[in-house]
Amino acid sequence: MTEDITPIRQQYLDIKRQYPDSILFFRLGDFYETFDADAEITSRELDIVLTSRNVAKGMRIPMAGIPYHAVENYLGRLIARGYHVAICEQVGDQPNKGLFPRQVVRVVTPGTVIEPGLLNSNTNNYLATVYPAENRTGIAYVDITTGEFAATELAAGGGEEVNTVVRAELVRLAPAEILWPENIALPEGIPGHITPWPGWHFEPGRCQEALFDLFHTTTLDGFGLRGQGLAVRAAGAIIQYLKDTQPDALKLLVGLHTYQLSDFMVLDAATRRNLELTETLRDGQVQGSLLGVLDQTVTPMGKRTIRQWVSKPLLDIPEISRRLSGVGCLLDNGMLRAELRAQLRPLADLERLTNRVLSGHALPRDLVAMRATLRGLPGLLNLFTAPIELLQPTLQHIDRCSAALEHLEQAIANDPPATLQTIGVIRDGYSAELDGVIQASQHARTWIANLEAVERERTGIKTLKVGYNKVFGYYIEISQSNAPNAPSEYIRKQTLVNAERFITPEMKEYETLVLNAEDRIREIENRLFQEVCAAIGADGRKLLETARALGELDTLAALAEAAAAGGYTRPAVSADDILEIHDGRHPVVELTLKGERYVPNEAVFEPGEIVRIITGPNMSGKSTFLRQVALIVLMAQMGSFVPAASAHIGLVDRIFTRIGAQDEIHAGQSTFMVEMIETANILHHATRRSLLVLDEIGRGTSTYDGLSIAWAVVEFIHNHPRLRAHTLFATHYHELTQLSSLLPGVRNYNVAVSESEGKVVFLHKIVPGGADRSYGIHVAQLAGIPQPVIQRAGEILHQLEASSGHATTLDGHSAQQLALFPETNPLLEEIQALDLNAISPIEALNKLYEWQRKYLDQKK
Ligand code: ADP
Ligand code: MG
Repeated sequence: MTEDITPIRQQYLDIKRQYPDSILFFRLGDFYETFDADAEITSRELDIVLTSRNVAKGMRIPMAGIPYHAVENYLGRLIARGYHVAICEQVGDQPNKGLFPRQVVRVVTPGTVIEPGLLNSNTNNYLATVYPAENRTGIAYVDITTGEFAATELAAGGGEEVNTVVRAELVRLAPAEILWPENIALPEGIPGHITPWPGWHFEPGRCQEALFDLFHTTTLDGFGLRGQGLAVRAAGAIIQYLKDTQPDALKLLVGLHTYQLSDFMVLDAATRRNLELTETLRDGQVQGSLLGVLDQTVTPMGKRTIRQWVSKPLLDIPEISRRLSGVGCLLDNGMLRAELRAQLRPLADLERLTNRVLSGHALPRDLVAMRATLRGLPGLLNLFTAPIELLQPTLQHIDRCSAALEHLEQAIANDPPATLQTIGVIRDGYSAELDGVIQASQHARTWIANLEAVERERTGIKTLKVGYNKVFGYYIEISQSNAPNAPSEYIRKQTLVNAERFITPEMKEYETLVLNAEDRIREIENRLFQEVCAAIGADGRKLLETARALGELDTLAALAEAAAAGGYTRPAVSADDILEIHDGRHPVVELTLKGERYVPNEAVFEPGEIVRIITGPNMSGKSTFLRQVALIVLMAQMGSFVPAASAHIGLVDRIFTRIGAQDEIHAGQSTFMVEMIETANILHHATRRSLLVLDEIGRGTSTYDGLSIAWAVVEFIHNHPRLRAHTLFATHYHELTQLSSLLPGVRNYNVAVSESEGKVVFLHKIVPGGADRSYGIHVAQLAGIPQPVIQRAGEILHQLEASSGHATTLDGHSAQQLALFPETNPLLEEIQALDLNAISPIEALNKLYEWQRKYLDQKK
């Protein structure tokens, strides 16, 4: 039956066969057409009309078309819904006979988008590959809009499953798309759009070859990839994927950066979420997160840089100090900062523009934006004529790029058309050849331009008009009433309702001259444009380095701006284990208080202090305090000033958070199970240099379970030689305050409450000592529980306290009464004997159930 199919259908089917998993956009004139199942999806997803087309005798197939000039919007919607789109263009010239040759020029996927309108300028658009093996996993990622290309190998560490490490790294990167080897099972909780990719792409030889090819090298040692077989496989697979989808992008990848997670503070996915680093827990918005407060940047490069800094605090004191000095310098020089930010603000996205030039996708207006940006650089650099030592490390990478600017100034017109289809892109006087062609056609153009006036004069017909359309070219139009007066040499071409259209042979000669000239001009302009792009591209590295340094300068200025606005101070950062924060504040909460003053708090760990237990009523500020300490540490290590009167931070290798059930927004999973898994993770992986933030541990279960677990966890952290890490432990279990008399490294703190004339006021001040009351009834009152209920609750509480006799007698020294684990208790010994490094979370949970049972039996 194939003989019956139209040739164009055959061409379509041949191409579509190579892209079974993508929607094929098949260029037909001014439209991209989709057919068959693709047409059905396209019409449904984009809400456009489904038509049909004859492809053989008696055979119609579904078809849906998109005008080519509006493709970006439609593409964006399909990609956002997880589809991949193969774009098939007509290539070369129309042949004399037969079909246009057609070819897929790129496949657009979430990770390979380059359309500026589809990219968020505030974030990187990463494509990542993951290659998991036994206990190690290779990860590589690339942003083809900025040229960043990096790889690493992750290992299972200290009993932590490698998948957990991988998940955390992927959460940090938040890739738009992840390539995953099809033959390897996908673990749970991998975030983002997954593209399964045949396993053979990850074969070592093939991947190594792909990298050799790309970098024209014969060894990968120079990239730090020696012995990193899995990283090579991940990176090599990315290259093959780009070859298939976006070959132009390969030109941008001039280097590969290998990194180690141990270079940075480790932040697992839960901690990033809990601390609301880049988005809020409630609604996922930047506004209300730490980034929301710190991001005062004014350029797209700066926005991406500061997001990276917040996501990746450092462990390298010289680098932290370098950033802090830059911030300090711009904080002290308010005038300079204001001028610098004013000069930065109008700059375009030089990083992405450069990459568009390098990959051959630049349009005339991209070059105009680049020119405007480069024009701004000398003024910006002039702000620093007196060299500023502290900013030098950043400034030295900013080049004026005068050669590139020179090309742009000389070649590109002031206000060129949007595309190269329209002439007028190149400036007069740039090319003698171009000017020659324009001049030569000048006479013909003038002649046509004057034709209307000349012919009106000659014929005396006032309504005579000269017009142009695509079908006839130029014509003379005369209204029907005057048509009989048309001169005899006019040749009638078309009759309209109230006018006649004519041509003359002379006019057609001039027309040919003009149109030929236009083709010629377009051709020359196209060529010159490509030459200019190539010339600028030769400076690509310099431009990219400049763009990144501008992003860093913008980020330093933004942190200085945030510091000025928030009254932040420079933290001292050292390699010891000091943690001293005087009058610290929560950078986000302090901005959200309305009419109330934020109460600053101390967090000064004495020598030997390990666990700080903080008790206090609900809503008194415990969670805020815990997060504030973690955020201040993190800010210091990202190179930011901190919201505190002063702070001294010994480097923290990792911040762990465990936020209790009350603040938990997990759905579906047993919250207690989640809590225990996260707690097990902390107990396994924290080191002496970690900071542990434990908020209301044990809340997800019954009181006795919860209290027992909380108690045992504190003991474990306190006693285990690997741990003994600074720990902030907020709890509503007052019984835990007894631990301070049993364990030398435990200190009690509570949130001060003032009571006068029956009115209770939370002072939000963390003070030494254990809390003596829970004020739950007070909170109920604040929440608007009716007065009779409040009163009755007060009576009941009173009775209960009187009958049980222990609620108010607790303090750190009457420990015996409620000590769950007197030192001789066999449970205690068992807990001590337990090797937590050797058991799984499930085993831990089983243990807990067992102990609970024993304990309850014992009580009977
Ligand atoms: P808790 O964890 O003790 O229940 P939160 O930390 O959630 O309490 O704090 C409850 C509210 O109290 C916060 O939303 C904030 O409005 C206010 N708050 C907390 N700390 C302070 C402070 N230091 N100064 C002023 N207000 C505070
Ligand atoms: Mg709380």
